[in-house]
Amino acid sequence: MNLLLPLLAAVVGSGVPGGVVAVPLPEHAVGAHFEGRPAVVHRDHALIGLPLETSPGEYSVDIGTRTGDVKVSFNVEPKEFPVQRLTIANDRMVNPRSEDLVRIGKETARMRAAYALASPAGGDLHPFLLPVDGEMSSPFGRKRILNGQPRSPHQGLDIAANTGTQMIAPAAGTVVVTGNFFFNGNTVMIDHGSGLVTMYCHLHEVHVEEGDSLVRGETFGSVGATGRATGPHLHWTVSMHGAKVDPLALIQVLGEIERIE
Ligand SMILES: [Zn+2]
Repeated sequence: MNLLLPLLAAVVGSGVPGGVVAVPLPEHAVGAHFEGRPAVVHRDHALIGLPLETSPGEYSVDIGTRTGDVKVSFNVEPKEFPVQRLTIANDRMVNPRSEDLVRIGKETARMRAAYALASPAGGDLHPFLLPVDGEMSSPFGRKRILNGQPRSPHQGLDIAANTGTQMIAPAAGTVVVTGNFFFNGNTVMIDHGSGLVTMYCHLHEVHVEEGDSLVRGETFGSVGATGRATGPHLHWTVSMHGAKVDPLALIQVLGEIERIE
């Protein structure tokens, strides 16, 4: 007899690599962890981001309560991601020079520091808005071959729109990074609190500075094709305590929590 079964049935979301699951927190919960990472807490749920490299199998979330720790189990199912072949005209964007690698290293460190932020919870995360309307031109998770060479998988969602189309903050947050990056072009990162950090790449214009506060729906920049891009689009990354997840999986699970409450 598994005493955790009643809780198992209440887990919502997509238990797949790159997905997000939500675990209801018992009263008086003092936090939740998954694989050593804290959860993003939203209303009375722990949101667990499953990185793309998560292997299928049974996992558990550790929930701290005043009377001791509780484990809640859930399954991660396999998910196949298609291969995307792209031709990038500027080969330096596929095979950077040594001086580019120094720059890329510094930029990667700035992004990693932002993804590691664990600020106090901000405003309510629902509804988590799409930053821009447009065609979903490249989904999360695709394996990528650039100019015939395998590269890291696509850890964001691409939304194609005309250059200059304004983009909006999906939820309230603080701008923690702005800059012009080698691959990502003009970039903005927003800290929404509780370990949820989002990144916006290839912008045409950036209207904000580091430290600026944004409310849900506020414009902060426009769609462009700066950095490594084959056309104007937004590359949108959603990170939960450093686990990059499919932005649509987060939107979906927040909607499910709204419905069941
Ligand atoms: Zn992208």
